[in-house]
Amino acid sequence: MATNRTKIMTLMTTVTGTTSADDAPVCVPHVQNTDIIGEFDMNALYASCHLCSRHCGVNRLEGKTGICGATATLKLGRAALHWWEEPCLVGDSGSGAVFFSFCSLHCLYCQNYELSHGAGAEITPERLSEIFLELQNDQHAANINLVTPGHYLPSIVVALNRAKQAGLHIPVVYNTSGYESVEALRLLDGLVDVYLTDYKYADPQLAHDLSQARDYPERALEALEEMDRQIKGEFVLDDQGLLQRGIIVRHLILPHHLQASKQALRLIHERFGSRVRLSIMNQFTPLAHDKRLDALGLNDTVSSQDYEEVLCFADDLGIEDYFWQEEAACQESFIPAFDGTGVVSSAN
Ligand code: SF4
Repeated sequence: MATNRTKIMTLMTTVTGTTSADDAPVCVPHVQNTDIIGEFDMNALYASCHLCSRHCGVNRLEGKTGICGATATLKLGRAALHWWEEPCLVGDSGSGAVFFSFCSLHCLYCQNYELSHGAGAEITPERLSEIFLELQNDQHAANINLVTPGHYLPSIVVALNRAKQAGLHIPVVYNTSGYESVEALRLLDGLVDVYLTDYKYADPQLAHDLSQARDYPERALEALEEMDRQIKGEFVLDDQGLLQRGIIVRHLILPHHLQASKQALRLIHERFGSRVRLSIMNQFTPLAHDKRLDALGLNDTVSSQDYEEVLCFADDLGIEDYFWQEEAACQESFIPAFDGTGVVSSAN
């Protein structure tokens, strides 16, 4: 068993956190780019949708939908302070999480099933920019945390530019499954400060079986390379330990799939090393939506012994700093209600 693990922070713990000054890298001032990113035609990107690696090519402006199920009309399940992220994204004030309805990946074990299947309320890009400012100015959020945003990226670019011109200055976190297109990510260069991205699978067969995306390992690596190009290996905390700029790569361990996790962690570490910060998660919550999960051993939680085995593997790889979770992270109560809170107006 490895003994050199550095517990830098935990997920799903109290908001008082465990950050210490000794843990925090030196704070480097970061100036956010608020420039308009040239001529930008939101509608053209929806008219033939290639916003994610599904490349459906459908005209979402006409109400047609591809694999994600979303038209060109923005839909949100919730916009509110959220506490269940890595502590450097939460701090004492909470992360300003904006949960977008629908998802392009369709994982059998989806942990946000209602949201990914369309729960929420429709809004305009103008209202989205107001939501960003309400989270910053009224709720004092530590950041704007865009959760599963990729299929609405054109509207988000418009809303972010509008909000930044109106005074949005807190970090923008792009919280994604990782199944992004590089071309779409390039539109975020200068608008996003923190990439919080999954790396779910290194095995194409597992990606096919669980997310109907055999090319996920390759596409997610390409997306991560683009994120790394934008962030340049920086990991910047302010004097309160809040992340201002960086990349966190989340890997959710699946019960009884430890070798798959080891394969994924090794790949990310060998490819990116300390340029990204890994977050190794044990919070898999069995949600009985699909009987195929039984056959795959996914109607279970990750045992503490199995979690320890994966963490020790990370130690043995030489990964010095990573996020890990305390026990009891796998509770359905950590999943917020996607009831439109904060979407139509901040009073809702
Ligand atoms: S965002 Fe939706 S419609 Fe567009 S390519 Fe992806 S799955 Fe298809």
